[in-house]
Amino acid sequence: MANIIDGKAVSAKVKEQVRIETEALIQKHGIQPGLAVVIVGNDPASRVYVNNKKKACEAVGFKSFEYALPEETTQEELLELVDTLNKDKNVNGILVQLPVPKQIDDKAIINAIAAEKDVDAFHPENVGRIMIGEYSFLPCTPAGAMELIDSTGVEIAGKNCVVIGRSNIVGKPMAMLLLHRSGTVTICHSKTQNLAEVTRQADILVAAVGRANFVTGDMVKEGAVVIDVGINRLDNGKLCGDVNYAEVEPKASWITPVPGGVGPMTIAMLMRNTLTAAKAQNGIQD
Ligand code: NDP
Repeated sequence: MANIIDGKAVSAKVKEQVRIETEALIQKHGIQPGLAVVIVGNDPASRVYVNNKKKACEAVGFKSFEYALPEETTQEELLELVDTLNKDKNVNGILVQLPVPKQIDDKAIINAIAAEKDVDAFHPENVGRIMIGEYSFLPCTPAGAMELIDSTGVEIAGKNCVVIGRSNIVGKPMAMLLLHRSGTVTICHSKTQNLAEVTRQADILVAAVGRANFVTGDMVKEGAVVIDVGINRLDNGKLCGDVNYAEVEPKASWITPVPGGVGPMTIAMLMRNTLTAAKAQNGIQD
């Protein structure tokens, strides 16, 4: 039977730490971090994410600025807003909620966000910094997954780490973070041959596939740490991960549930990145 990694508890700890540091930043330096969240269109899932980010900002003591733009917003209009936010001293972090409507090229928007305000860490400069290990921010979801692995006390160095998924926002940076911690890392994707053979080698297995119950019991080594990044909505409306929990839980030593695992960590890491950005932009070291 696996130990359950409680993402809600770890996330609450991270947010509490951010709240304490924010209070000190306001008291000592008169600086209150500010996060601008931009949402374009009416995607209901995006609306939920944006509301949650706003609530988290309030809870840790940040200013939050929301810009809700209509579905028909042009790329030029959005670029103009990003430019204004880049110059706004009250805004330390800028997040454009993805996906954006199809008339807008998301890469152009990401590239336009000032790297020092790119709290999602999607800008090519920040991606490059992660590659060479000299980063200010890490992308929130993989950073959250790393916090969860660390919360188990399991050493990463020297372990076989397998990441299923190679997206720019989860799989690739996750693999890089595990590599920075001296894991022996394998990245799998849809063209990987004999996937189960590879995943069975994993001491630490991270699933970021986007397919419900994809990782079955036979794909997991006895005693593995299993991190399920997937968020899939089933026909009955319930959320479910990429890992078949019922089959994998008895074999794993540690496992994240869905919901309540990686999900809550993403926003906590966004709060941490925004605080880091506010300090860096004001030349504060502590
Ligand atoms: P993408 O769709 O961008 O990437 C999925 C990856 O899975 C791709 O690299 C793809 O391979 C790989 N894949 C698909 N099918 C297979 C297969 N049969 N065998 C092996 N690999 C396969 O998804 P994301 O990375 O954006 O997200 C992954 C999951 O994580 C989703 O469920 C998403 O909802 C969730 N997520 C959760 C977050 C959180 O806050 N917890 C935040 C972000 C995402 P290929 O490249 O070859 O196509």
